[in-house]
Amino acid sequence: MTTAFYTHPDCKLHDMGPGHPESPARLQAIEDQLIASRIDQLLDHRTAPLALEDDLARVHSTAMIARVREHSLALAGTAGIYPLDPDTSVNAHSWQAALRAAGAALAATDAVIAGDIDNAFCAVRPPGHHATAHTPMGFCLFNNVALAARHALEVHGLERVAIVDFDVHHGNGTEQIFAHDPRVLMVSFFQHPFYPFSGTEPEGSHALNIPVSAYSDGSVVRQLVTEQWLPALEAHRPQMIFVSAGFDAHREDDMAQMGLVEADYTWLTRQIMQVAAQHAQGRIVSCLEGGYNLSALGRSVVAHMKVLADLE
Ligand SMILES: [Zn+2]
Repeated sequence: MTTAFYTHPDCKLHDMGPGHPESPARLQAIEDQLIASRIDQLLDHRTAPLALEDDLARVHSTAMIARVREHSLALAGTAGIYPLDPDTSVNAHSWQAALRAAGAALAATDAVIAGDIDNAFCAVRPPGHHATAHTPMGFCLFNNVALAARHALEVHGLERVAIVDFDVHHGNGTEQIFAHDPRVLMVSFFQHPFYPFSGTEPEGSHALNIPVSAYSDGSVVRQLVTEQWLPALEAHRPQMIFVSAGFDAHREDDMAQMGLVEADYTWLTRQIMQVAAQHAQGRIVSCLEGGYNLSALGRSVVAHMKVLADLE
């Protein structure tokens, strides 16, 4: 197996201010834990290129792209921060970081489809799954996974893909973007009621977003995956799987109140690998979303990557 690890130093320069949980330290925690667990040297390290504005425009409106670019670049040479919403800000480096984050997902998709690598994890920020076609929100600027999925469909001509979202929050942006696109099946679970307070009334018929109550643990998640996600994925027969890999459902993550542990991320990743092996020639591109307890995040990404790289 060749598993690529995409990241870029620019992704650590996007900073939404002191004390913001979506911090540059998250990527450092992942890199440190990969080294400590000795799997770092077994991965194919790749540098994320910059996405083009034309790539972003496959999902996002030109007005939204311009809004992010202009507010970020207006801060060049300053330490200022501009709030796009109460949770989501840009600094001078955010535009470049967002292009790297999207660029990682797109380059990973190209490399997996070319057969150059088996699968990939993109350790990038800003994350993406709350970003809609028209609005950055919820720590997200552009929807990296949605961009990659649409790239696979429209540039590479795939006919069916799936998006698996195991972040603790509902991926409202991804659902909205693909609500009327039957080529894309989205499966997720999310703590409910909880930010962004959506997901219980489907926007289209191709999303299986399953609300779970606070304090649910891995057994609840494993049961819903087995009973609901896997049959839906089997029926859809995706030719490639994209993962919105958020690790904020971890028991130690104070952002939410769910009870997953590393073994649950191992199990989840195995299920995704099996569907991919059966229908998608093993093709998986996974992108970091949430995960705010730095220790739990690092350990959970290691658990995820060990399965992707067939090391466990
Ligand atoms: Zn989240």
